[in-house]
Amino acid sequence: MCEAKPSPADNPSQPNPSVPPSPEFRPAASRAAHWDYAGQEVFDVAVIGGGVNGASLYNDLCHQGWRTLLVDRSDFAAGSSQASGMMVWGGLLYLRVGDVLTVMKLSRARDRMIEELGEWTQPALYRYIPTRRSGLPSAFIGAGLGFYWLLGAGRRRFPCYEKHFDETALIQRDGHRGAFRYEEAMLRASDARFTLHWLTAHAPPTGCALNHCDVVPEIYDRQEQLWRLELRDRLGGASTSARARLIVNCTGVWVDRLNAQCGIESPYRHALSKGVYLGLQREEGHHGPLVFDMGSNGDVMTYVPWGPLALWGPTETAIDSIEAGLAPDAADLRFLVRTANQHLRRDVQAADIVSLRSGIRALAVKRDYVADRYPLELSRRSIVHADHEQPWISVYGGKLTGCRELAARIRGSIAARIDPALAGDDAGEVAVPDMALSHFPGIDPPLPSPQWCRDHEFCCTLEDYLRRRTNISQWLPRRGLGHGSVNRDAILAVAQVFHGAEAASELARYEQQVETQYDPLLAELASGR
Ligand SMILES: Cc1cc2nc3c(=O)[nH]c(=O)nc-3n(C[C@H](O)[C@H](O)[C@H](O)COP(=O)(O)OP(=O)(O)OC[C@H]3O[C@@H](n4cnc5c(N)ncnc54)[C@H](O)[C@@H]3O)c2cc1C
Repeated sequence: MCEAKPSPADNPSQPNPSVPPSPEFRPAASRAAHWDYAGQEVFDVAVIGGGVNGASLYNDLCHQGWRTLLVDRSDFAAGSSQASGMMVWGGLLYLRVGDVLTVMKLSRARDRMIEELGEWTQPALYRYIPTRRSGLPSAFIGAGLGFYWLLGAGRRRFPCYEKHFDETALIQRDGHRGAFRYEEAMLRASDARFTLHWLTAHAPPTGCALNHCDVVPEIYDRQEQLWRLELRDRLGGASTSARARLIVNCTGVWVDRLNAQCGIESPYRHALSKGVYLGLQREEGHHGPLVFDMGSNGDVMTYVPWGPLALWGPTETAIDSIEAGLAPDAADLRFLVRTANQHLRRDVQAADIVSLRSGIRALAVKRDYVADRYPLELSRRSIVHADHEQPWISVYGGKLTGCRELAARIRGSIAARIDPALAGDDAGEVAVPDMALSHFPGIDPPLPSPQWCRDHEFCCTLEDYLRRRTNISQWLPRRGLGHGSVNRDAILAVAQVFHGAEAASELARYEQQVETQYDPLLAELASGR
């Protein structure tokens, strides 16, 4: 029986998922000030890649007093860190392949996030829903969840079986037999905003963060013991050179490419797995994440409430190139709609899809790994590899959950390479004015205003704002444009903030993308082709 003790996880609905919970941690320096500074300083560390792993490393290093440069050639969090399920979890699925160590580490990381990053993370009650197809006896699943709880040192609520729960009305009656309730956590706002908060906390002279910036590490000067990095602003065209003692390649699925480009050899590489979610209108009574056992390959599908949406997915498809995973295709959508209709009581059609999320998991493997296994069978461990010849560290794997522990490991590896005495004092985090809010049609809670995001959050483009500073392009159909482009004027007003006289052409480009990529995909699904 489930205990009745109330807990914050009983009500996991996000208080206001669009707005970061506290306005205290904001940068004092503009993007231009970061740019000006990049060419002046000799940095201790240059982190390449501003996804969650690079961003949390940047935060860690700045707090340790290391002068740190972080560069992303796109927007911060524009890679896998904008495409996750936002679950802060101990890695229950990895138990099926016996990866006990990873589960223990992730469970500890989850609990630290709940304790120490409460404004970004909140506990949530998950329901694991066995299906007849899974073939696993209930006693076995219960014992497995009990073991999982033990691996988390019993810090979360003890799992229990429930015949009925709030979401019973949302799932197919046939084939399901109650649920096991257990406790994990969820990000409150979004994965992109979670990533961003590590970056906006620092400013020159401790930290310098540049988005939309091409970076080419030139040769390592052994005499000076410095890397020279050529930086080019992809938006303004300005360029400069920066110098750093050590480089950390934190580019996620692009790690192998950057290593190859810079002549770095490594005994590891990434295997790639594509993951796609459907964003559906959230149903009444949907309070917490549901995890459906799929009965094959140890796979599950999740149905996770997120603001006005519920995310259904993800797929798990081995791919052999990054390009194959950047966007969903019709086969992904057909699979997701079919499985949703097998498990949910609602009838999911193409017209019910509000948005799509597609990302690539970077799975750390040995260089000679032959891709002959289902991605879920691969360990989700992360690897920090320091080059023997040059001060260059490559980071493989890593999840949202555990990003701080990974950062601490990378810091250890850095300290073995450059003299820790060079580090200064922790300059603390910078503060900025209160967040200015604005409204967008169709979204209830107020959002950070475009002007505020431009001035305080490195927000440079229409897409940065619609996708990563807010959830507009995920929460409203047709990437925020709405059916019949009903939000066209509102988006034009946003575009004016970022693109000035070019706003109309930027909007036209955005609309064209939706019309040529998004609309045809859903039309293909609707037509059953
Ligand atoms: C479908 C899916 C669901 C997931 N769900 C969860 C979950 O629920 N919970 C969880 O904990 N984890 C989850 N994950 C895993 C998590 O999202 C990723 O592990 C994490 O976001 C990876 O972060 P990263 O910083 O390593 O990479 P990324 O976020 O991809 O960041 C890499 C950055 O490097 C930049 N870059 C690339 N090349 C260069 C270059 N040459 N120069 C400069 N910059 C460059 C890119 O622009 C990008 O911003 C999920 C992943 C996927 C795909």
